[in-house]
Amino acid sequence: MERYWNKEIECMSREDMKKLQDERLVKQVKHVWDNVPYYRKKMEEKGVTPDDIKSTDDLHKLPFLSKADLRDSYPDGLLGVPLSECVRIHSTSGTTGRRVVAYYTQKDIDMWEDCCARAITAAGGTKEDVMHVSYGYGLFTGGFGVHGGAAKVGCLTLPMSSGNTDRQIQFMMDLKSTILCCTPSYAAYLGEAMKEKGIKPEDNYLKAGIFGAEPWTEEMRQEIEKSLGIKAYDIYGLTESSGPGVAFECSEQTGMHINEDNFIAEIIDPDTGEVLPEGTKGELVFTSINKEGFPLLRYRTRDICVLSRKKCSCGRTLIKMAKPMGRSDDMLIIRGVNVFPSQIETVLIAQGYSPNYRIELDRVNNTDTFDVYVEMPADQFTDVVKEIQKKESELTNALKLILGISPKVHLVSPKTIERSEGKAVRVVDKRKLH
Ligand SMILES: [Zn+2]
Repeated sequence: MERYWNKEIECMSREDMKKLQDERLVKQVKHVWDNVPYYRKKMEEKGVTPDDIKSTDDLHKLPFLSKADLRDSYPDGLLGVPLSECVRIHSTSGTTGRRVVAYYTQKDIDMWEDCCARAITAAGGTKEDVMHVSYGYGLFTGGFGVHGGAAKVGCLTLPMSSGNTDRQIQFMMDLKSTILCCTPSYAAYLGEAMKEKGIKPEDNYLKAGIFGAEPWTEEMRQEIEKSLGIKAYDIYGLTESSGPGVAFECSEQTGMHINEDNFIAEIIDPDTGEVLPEGTKGELVFTSINKEGFPLLRYRTRDICVLSRKKCSCGRTLIKMAKPMGRSDDMLIIRGVNVFPSQIETVLIAQGYSPNYRIELDRVNNTDTFDVYVEMPADQFTDVVKEIQKKESELTNALKLILGISPKVHLVSPKTIERSEGKAVRVVDKRKLH
């Protein structure tokens, strides 16, 4: 039986939801106009005032915000309330430039935790569950967000944070954890580590996992479900819009329901900014309509995905977003061809390899070199050079078929590629392009 955290909202009729969104958008735009000079200036430049925004039908009139705007206004140029009203910050890792700092009032935290409670409930979580949170606790939003949601649901919550895999497994077994939350790559690693310790999938107490914060494929889902003996649910979010819980998966597992009472999603053409019709692939844009501290209007996520209003068997009426194909930030341009690491992952798993791999890019004589290091599965390990070469060429052909270009594949011994406990580092780009 499908469980809901807030059935009234999650199963609301389209008309009622639009009405709620219209009211909240008008209020949010006025709040931003009055309190965020940075965005007000953007609106003025576009010749838009709050009077022009009467409903969600007018959303397209508002200017976009991009990651560059967030960096320009670092640290608090987009703050919507006095600092004394804020109770917390979170921040992005800043791996691709300046950090983004997001501010939260207590109401913002409550709203965020409520979104996470919906995700946990959709994954079957109740107050009887033991929630094992192996997301990092700290500036990263993962740990605290899911933790707060689990507390609302009433789960016994284990704030494990990331790292120390032996302790993770010991607590998981001794305290009988039933739901695991972490990055999908760490979930896969935990599955491997448990197997090594001789713990079979049916020996642990886990029934579900909620995984997010990095792109993962359907193949990786199946792999995790098998190795841990669980049902694996996807969760989506980004620091700029609270954190995890902006969208979450239900029992149907065909996309994530967006918490539309708090966030309006649009898909745009990343080149022209034009809003695209439902069902078209493009860049995901989010507008917060229920935030105080860090309200972002039309924030361009760089995530490439598709929205769908197709009726869902779970009974929720919230619009669904497909699993993002990858952030356009993650997209690699190799010899002029667009490559997403997730495409490589799909091929590896389909061919029976582990999803632990490393891509190395370099530039030699003005040509990109493209090397992919892949671990041989332990049960197929061989040191016969001819055998290895044969497998490498098979894998090269399979990758070429999907990517359109040929990588140089290197098969390495099992367990030689460094494991990650947080977000996986898959790409080492040594090209000096500037
Ligand atoms: Zn559903």
